[in-house]
Amino acid sequence: MIKHLRSAADLDAETATLILDTAGEMAALAGREVKKLPTLRGRTVVNLFYEDSTRTRISFEAAAKRLSADVINFSAKGSSVSKGESLKDTALTLQAMGADAVVIRHPASGAPHRLASWVDGSVINAGDGTHEHPTQALLDAYTMRSRLGRLDGLNVAIVGDVLHSRVARSNVLLLSTLGARVTLVGPPTLIPIDVAAALQPGLKVSYDLDSVLPDADVVMMLRVQTERMQDSYFPSAREYSRRYGLDAPRMRKLPEHAIVMHPGPMNRGMEIAPEVADSSRSTIVEQVANGVSARMAVLYLLLGGKA
Ligand code: ASP
Repeated sequence: MIKHLRSAADLDAETATLILDTAGEMAALAGREVKKLPTLRGRTVVNLFYEDSTRTRISFEAAAKRLSADVINFSAKGSSVSKGESLKDTALTLQAMGADAVVIRHPASGAPHRLASWVDGSVINAGDGTHEHPTQALLDAYTMRSRLGRLDGLNVAIVGDVLHSRVARSNVLLLSTLGARVTLVGPPTLIPIDVAAALQPGLKVSYDLDSVLPDADVVMMLRVQTERMQDSYFPSAREYSRRYGLDAPRMRKLPEHAIVMHPGPMNRGMEIAPEVADSSRSTIVEQVANGVSARMAVLYLLLGGKA
């Protein structure tokens, strides 16, 4: 088993499948009255969050607690980071406290890689800048597999602000490893020019959402990340929504079985219409629940559990 999960590229097909299968076992636990396993009793998991988060932070905390680990939540706000403490000094403090795993979210791409060279425990990337978010890709793959029964050969359209999306990057890597066919869809300004060549052979790019929908098994809508935009990438929110937003008439172009995903938080009315987000095709709430199971599986396996 790998020691760190810094990137979805750390996962080969066998390891990724083992994590998804283990997540399935963990999900069975969620239906029980007592949702705890004693597996990580006596182990310490630190959640180190330098960037805002709702779902991911709560999900990692719930996952570690359900495995009976001791959980320390560290948020940069209110810590010595605001006094200028470096990531390295914070890492050495965690090291001194004997953290077995550090879950890190950081605005700088690559921060988890640096951290892994400073601490002895496992490092899990919970989102680094615009780079990667591998546990999101795992929970997304888990959701697709449980809704559609397979990943191999699935047509997955990832739509919107690909340029700023760590979710898109991790999903492209993991889904390609697991045999799905990914098409990135969005305005040319929000799709990196060299993406198809650089990322994966077989990855497709389209600037026309309407032409992609009839063949899609999965449509993953991405949030437009205005907080990461220094330039204007499209004329107006209305124009964006008209071309790349998923509303009810557009949703009808999808095959009957297709599902609609979104990692959250959503800009309702922009990339996704409320009637789509709340429809029976939407897996958005399911993705959150599956996130706990997927993160339990990652913590369990990285900290030495067996399948
Ligand atoms: N929650 C996801 C992330 O942290 C997606 C997003 O923010 O749009 O990357």
